[in-house]
Amino acid sequence: MNRKDIQFGTKAIHAGLEPDPATGAIMTPIYQTSTYVQSEVGVHKGYEYSRSLNPTRHALEKNIAALENGAYGACFGSGLAAIDCVIKMLNPGDEVISTNDLYGGTYRIFTTIFEKYGIKFHFVPMGDVSAVEEKVNENTKLIWVETPTNPMMNIVDIKAMSKIAKNANAWLAVDNTFATPYLQTPIDLGADIVMHSATKYLGGHSDVVMGALVTNNDHIASEMYRIQNSSGAVTAPMDSFLVLRGIKTLHVRMQRHCENGEVLANWLAKHPAVDKVYWPGFESHPNHEIAKEQMNGFGGMISFSLKSGKLEDAKKLVSSTEVFTLAESLGGVESLLGHPATMTHASIPKEEREKTGVTDTLIRLSVGIEAIEDLQKDLEQALAQL
Ligand SMILES: *Cc1c(COP(=O)(O)O)cnc(C)c1O
Repeated sequence: MNRKDIQFGTKAIHAGLEPDPATGAIMTPIYQTSTYVQSEVGVHKGYEYSRSLNPTRHALEKNIAALENGAYGACFGSGLAAIDCVIKMLNPGDEVISTNDLYGGTYRIFTTIFEKYGIKFHFVPMGDVSAVEEKVNENTKLIWVETPTNPMMNIVDIKAMSKIAKNANAWLAVDNTFATPYLQTPIDLGADIVMHSATKYLGGHSDVVMGALVTNNDHIASEMYRIQNSSGAVTAPMDSFLVLRGIKTLHVRMQRHCENGEVLANWLAKHPAVDKVYWPGFESHPNHEIAKEQMNGFGGMISFSLKSGKLEDAKKLVSSTEVFTLAESLGGVESLLGHPATMTHASIPKEEREKTGVTDTLIRLSVGIEAIEDLQKDLEQALAQL
């Protein structure tokens, strides 16, 4: 079931999967095994040792690759382990250009782990294509894009970045965690690597930590599998099963995330206590046209700031909601809210984060798929308490 003309919802449920050859089980079994019998030396059924390959993980890797219109998929113990794999493909002296409005953990692995191995990272405002072009030189090997960005919901033009990468003979990697392949398929727009924190929308139920990479490039794929096996940050059979199960409803969940997100973004924009609302669906969003072109919807991630500008108000708000829960993470069926300055982005220096808009009153919503009336009422009562 890997034909190109198959619709997303059908692929989500069937791509890469077949009934279990041993029993006919329609759902991919959890192959909770570390090793596999060999009938004689070197003769086996394609599986030798579960760090290298496990049937449950393999099914998930094929499924995610198909959703991203890629040929090769690999799953990892976390999103950061997937990022770790990409940067390990580089060599000392290589340079990476990335956005200055980056997931905090990505910034941390780049600057505190890989800089000391001689890889140089540039952080630029990627909404501005020329800011990226200025940093390109003969050492540029990778352009790392996140779009929409976290938490400012900036949109990066993937096609434009792909052009720059191709001219520089560099790879383009896109962190597609926020959009998911339901809303955006970066490989179709020229990306060489797509990365996911499957912890978020792909899993969708806040019960797994996992990462994934997808590529169409044979050389990148062989490096990806070599590093996956050599560094060993693989994901477990049970977790692979849970994410496979989650993906079966990805398209249905994303539709509702988008619908609920749209209602709340518009409502917040009119609320007297709210200053700015960041959501790519607004016509006033600086890159709304690009979002419309490269995405099939605007998603359920929204950030907003408070008119009062007071840190205490932001803290009060995030602890006054009843349906929205204060927690790190995003992309689950349940609505969450967070305070980036003290949570996800605490590892970014205050001066750096304020430059990108992560102020003391910025609040990030991961709008879930509950009844929209209850989500709106919840925010209404919490804002009324300020
Ligand atoms: C969560 C997240 C990551 C890191 O993934 P983990 O699964 O937590 O390791 C990377 N990028 C984005 C955009 C994320 O939201």
